[in-house]
Amino acid sequence: MANIIDGKAVSAKVKEEIAKETAAIKAKYGISIGLAVVIVGDDPASRIYVNNKKKACETVGFTSYEYALSADTTQEELLQLIDKLNKDDNVNGILVQLPLPKHLDEKAVINSISPEKDVDAFHPVNVGKIMIGEYSFLPCTPAGIMELIASTGVDIKGKECVVVGRSNIVGKPMSMLLLHKSGTVTICHSKTNDLAEHCRKADILVVAVGVPKLVTGDMIKDDAVVIDVGMNRLENGKLCGDVDFDSAKEKASFITPVPGGVGPMTIAMLMKNTLTAAKIKQGIE
Ligand code: NDP
Repeated sequence: MANIIDGKAVSAKVKEEIAKETAAIKAKYGISIGLAVVIVGDDPASRIYVNNKKKACETVGFTSYEYALSADTTQEELLQLIDKLNKDDNVNGILVQLPLPKHLDEKAVINSISPEKDVDAFHPVNVGKIMIGEYSFLPCTPAGIMELIASTGVDIKGKECVVVGRSNIVGKPMSMLLLHKSGTVTICHSKTNDLAEHCRKADILVVAVGVPKLVTGDMIKDDAVVIDVGMNRLENGKLCGDVDFDSAKEKASFITPVPGGVGPMTIAMLMKNTLTAAKIKQGIE
């Protein structure tokens, strides 16, 4: 029976450390750390994410600046706002909540954020830095997963690591971070032949697909570390992961629940990136 990885507890610890460091920076340099959160339209899920990010800012002692724009905001208006935030000294990090309404060009918007303030690490400059291992910011979800794996005490070096999913925000950067820690990494996707066979080889299995309960216990190696990134809303309103938790927990040594696993870590790492941005700007090591 697996140990359950408590994402809430690990994220609370990360936020506690950030709060201490933020207070020390405020006391020493007399500066406040600011995160600007931009939301366009009224998607209810995005609204919840933005509120959670604002709450996290309060917890760690950052100032949050919310820009809630109407769904008919034009590309030019949005780019003008980002330009203003890029130049605003009170703003250390800029986050544009995705997805954007269909008439807006998401790529152009991401590319317009200054890489120094790109705390989501989606800008091509930051993506490139992750590839060569010389990064300031790590993308929040993969970075949070690395903290969760570290919390198990399992050493990634030499392990068979299988990542299911190859999105730009989770699967691809996740694979890179595992590779940087000397894991032997396989990336699976929708065209992979025999997904189960690959999963069964994994000492560390990260599943980021968006298909409820795609990975079942019979696809998991004995004593594997299983990280479930999936957040699928079922018809009954409940959240469900990409891993069938009940059967998987019988095989794994460690497993993340949904909710309460990866989700809370993503926001904690956003706070960490904002702190890093402020430290770099202030010249703090
Ligand atoms: P995307 O839809 O961008 O990517 C999904 C990936 O899964 C693709 O690479 C796709 O392959 C692959 N895939 C789809 N079906 C299968 C299948 N049957 N077998 C193998 N691979 C498959 O999703 P994201 O990466 O953005 O998100 C994945 C999940 O993680 C979602 O549930 C999302 O809600 C959740 N998530 C959770 C976060 C958190 O903080 N907890 C943060 C971000 C995401 P292909 O490339 O071939 O199409």
